[in-house]
Amino acid sequence: MRTPFIAGNWKMFTTATECVDLCRALVERIDKVSGVETAVCPPFTHLDRARAALEGSSIGLGAQNMHWEEQGAFTGEVGPRMLTSLVRYVIIGHSERRQFFCETDETCNKKLISALAHNLAPIFCVGETRDEREAGHTNAVLARQVRVGLNGVPWTGDCVIAYEPVWAIGTGLAATGEQANETIGYIRGLVAEIAGASIAERTRIQYGGSVKAENAQEFFGQPEIDGALVGGASLDADSFAAIVRAAAEIRAKA
Ligand code: PEP
Repeated sequence: MRTPFIAGNWKMFTTATECVDLCRALVERIDKVSGVETAVCPPFTHLDRARAALEGSSIGLGAQNMHWEEQGAFTGEVGPRMLTSLVRYVIIGHSERRQFFCETDETCNKKLISALAHNLAPIFCVGETRDEREAGHTNAVLARQVRVGLNGVPWTGDCVIAYEPVWAIGTGLAATGEQANETIGYIRGLVAEIAGASIAERTRIQYGGSVKAENAQEFFGQPEIDGALVGGASLDADSFAAIVRAAAEIRAKA
C-alpha cells in the first residue's frame, strides 16, 4: 500500500520569522501523526531556517523549483547542488512556473533528470487548464506532459507526481474526488507505459487544487489518490494539520 504524502507549497508567502513560526506550529500539530508522510516547501531564502525548525521532526522539507544545471552564469537561479544538503524534495513544473516563467515540458524534463541525479525527490506537477478540459483535451495534455517530462528519466517508485488541474489551483473550485481519481488513474497508466507496471504501482500521485480541511476526505477516500499538494491551506497550521489528520484517519481504516 502506498503511504499518503501531504506536501505544502508555500509559494511566495511568509517572512523568515513567519516561516519559522509556521514550522514550529506544524511540528506541534503533526509530528506524531503516523501513517502519512508530510513535507513543506517554503521559499528558498528560508530553507535553512526551516530546516533548523523542523530538525528531529517527521516533517520533510522541499524546494519549490530548481535549475537543471549544477552551477553557472544563471542570475537569480538556484541549482541542485545548493539544495541537496538542505532539502529532500523539489517541486518541478508547477503550473505557476509554466504559466508565468515560461517553463515547458522540455525544461521540466531536464529538471527531473537533474533532480534525480542529485538524489532529490521530485514532486512533478502536471495538469490541464480550464480551456483544455472544456475542449476535451485533458488526457492529451496530460499524456504530452508526462511523456515529454519523463523522457529518459530514471523514474523510480520514490518519485511523486502531483495532478493539479490549473483551473482548481487557488480558485476554491476543487475537482471532485471522482474526477481526480479517474484522471490520476489515467496518469498512472501513462507511468506504467513509460516505466513499467510495478513502478507505476509504487509511484505516489497526489491531487492538488483547492484542497482544504473541509474537502480533504473526499480525495483521500479514493483509491488512486495518494495525498495532496496543498497551497493556500498549507499556510495555516490548523488547516494543514487537519488535512494531514484526515489522510491518517482514512489510511488507518484501509
Ligand atoms: C498549489 O499551489 O499547488 C495549490 C494546489 O494551491 P491551492 O491549494 O491554493 O489551490
